[in-house]
Amino acid sequence: MPRLVKSGEDPYQTLVITIISQNTADTNTERAFKSLSDKFSITPKTLATAKISDIEECIRIAGLYQAKAKAIYTASNTILTRFGGTLTPILSLSTEEARRTLMDMPGVGPKTADVVLLFSAGKPTIPVDTHVNRVSRRLGLAPTNGGYEEVRLSLQQYFEPKDYLLVHMLLIAHGRKTCKAPKPLCTKCLVNTYCPSNGSVN
Ligand code: SF4
Repeated sequence: MPRLVKSGEDPYQTLVITIISQNTADTNTERAFKSLSDKFSITPKTLATAKISDIEECIRIAGLYQAKAKAIYTASNTILTRFGGTLTPILSLSTEEARRTLMDMPGVGPKTADVVLLFSAGKPTIPVDTHVNRVSRRLGLAPTNGGYEEVRLSLQQYFEPKDYLLVHMLLIAHGRKTCKAPKPLCTKCLVNTYCPSNGSVN
């Protein structure tokens, strides 16, 4: 979950940042987004009419830059031609319809769609990033063998939709500071008495 993404931010900006951040450290995501923002205004119209090679050049530091530039360009074109240049019509759909519509865009997977929906539209969904995935499985809140959708739906059933953003942020913080991969700090963990994986992760 990139540090740059904040609750209530412009949904298109959140979409672009999240695409750039895939498999990329925060620092490089931030540098790539700054470089893109320095050259272009971050709007669907601007990036749909930019040269893909120029987008690539701006975000090169983020890695996988060709695929990411293509995803940003294609999503921008879709938003411009099908939705009048704004994500508003998509975000006014039901959560599941909005997810499907976002995920129809090449390069937009479930995590990217969920980040946009939760952070920029306040929709009830929990994005499953690497920390959320690991911590929720260890805590027994999600099946150990399930895929993205199984983890998301399992997790959501334990919490009120109004708390999904908080749950997402807390699981990430816990994963970064305590329930680390590969070696969690179980003896220091505040929830170790409730955790079925306490002391058993090697
Ligand atoms: S007890 Fe260990 S495995 Fe369980 S949540 Fe805490 S750090 Fe993670």
